[in-house]
Amino acid sequence: RNEIGHAQADTLLAALAAGETTVRVPDALRLDAYRAEGGYQLLRACLDGRRSRDEVIADLSGAGLRGLGGAGFPTGRKWELVRAQPGPRLMTINGDEGEPGTFKDRFFLERDPHRMLEGALVAAWAVEAERIYLYMRDEYPGILEILRQEIDALAASGLSDHAPIELRRGAGAYICGEESAMIESVEGKRGLPRNRPPYVAEVGLFGRPTLNHNVETLHWIRDILERGADWFTEQGKEGHSGLRSYSVSGRVRDPGVKVMACGSTINEIIAECGGMQEGHSFRAFLPGGASGGIFPASMADLPMDFGTFEKHGGFIGSHAVVILSDQDDLRGAALNLLRFFKDESCGQCTPCRAGTEKMVAMLEAGDWDDARLKDLEQVMRDASICGLGQAASNPVRSVLTFFAGEETR
Ligand code: SF4
Repeated sequence: RNEIGHAQADTLLAALAAGETTVRVPDALRLDAYRAEGGYQLLRACLDGRRSRDEVIADLSGAGLRGLGGAGFPTGRKWELVRAQPGPRLMTINGDEGEPGTFKDRFFLERDPHRMLEGALVAAWAVEAERIYLYMRDEYPGILEILRQEIDALAASGLSDHAPIELRRGAGAYICGEESAMIESVEGKRGLPRNRPPYVAEVGLFGRPTLNHNVETLHWIRDILERGADWFTEQGKEGHSGLRSYSVSGRVRDPGVKVMACGSTINEIIAECGGMQEGHSFRAFLPGGASGGIFPASMADLPMDFGTFEKHGGFIGSHAVVILSDQDDLRGAALNLLRFFKDESCGQCTPCRAGTEKMVAMLEAGDWDDARLKDLEQVMRDASICGLGQAASNPVRSVLTFFAGEETR
């Protein structure tokens, strides 16, 4: 319901109840319609030499566009880094979108898939990547169907000749949203995160320098390059640059994807969602999915941008906002998230594999001993290979920090 709205959810449930099992293919803007409204003129200008690579990269840097999969790395800088590596280069698109509470990529792909595909083809041109591998989660069968058809249509039109696009399906592992695990999966191996350095910009897919982007990052490229960097930066709030898509779920009246200024606050996001649900009063929120931490309503005036919540032991990641109320059990929520990490740990490093299991066992036994949990957290943070193990304890730590002494039920 959060992802597709109440009306569509009701239709879907009725169809399921009636025994229909066909894939629902959303009514997305197809190639001809997208071109009719000016689509792919930007790409044409790039391929025809009317735009230069340096100018395009400078525009993206000026716009302050950052990686919206969660890491927030400056996009223009990433393009410079990959372009400086020796060829042949490749490109990957991370459409795994497995972060709990995140559904913005789905929102864009169901409506306007070519905006992302044009962004990807411009990016591949800019860094001179020879091929694009689009990794999509299999839980989005309708989108996979759209992409299959539209990638074929693009190939037939000749627009993707400089960087043919290959669609690869993920098999549902959360860890395959981590870029190096995704690359392993595209290569046909088990999705295990790699140790870094080297970074994927240097040694990525099939050992080649690789430009990897999230779907939403690519979605903004056409608008920025057509309307100008200033247009994008002016959309932000009080020193924060651009627009962001917040996936909002939880105890609000009207959940869903809210495209708002970067730097908006949680209070503003709740207002945009029509306020809290009847009978619920705002108590806590998750600013960034499963590992971004659980914060009290008193911190809902912090601007939502990369770097803000890090100072408080959390982060906003892919901007998955979950609103909790006085009727929610905060310790229960933290335990639920830890169970998720325990299940999704790929298991290749002991601090994460054994640490998440141990933490779940402690919490299930009602043992919230601060010192022992801190000890365990430190080992997981210091010695895990990837972000899953490093940040898994954030929900527990934030509940202990911000709700100390409170009845968290
Ligand atoms: Fe795998 Fe966890 Fe280690 Fe990441 S931290 S590589 S998920 S075991």
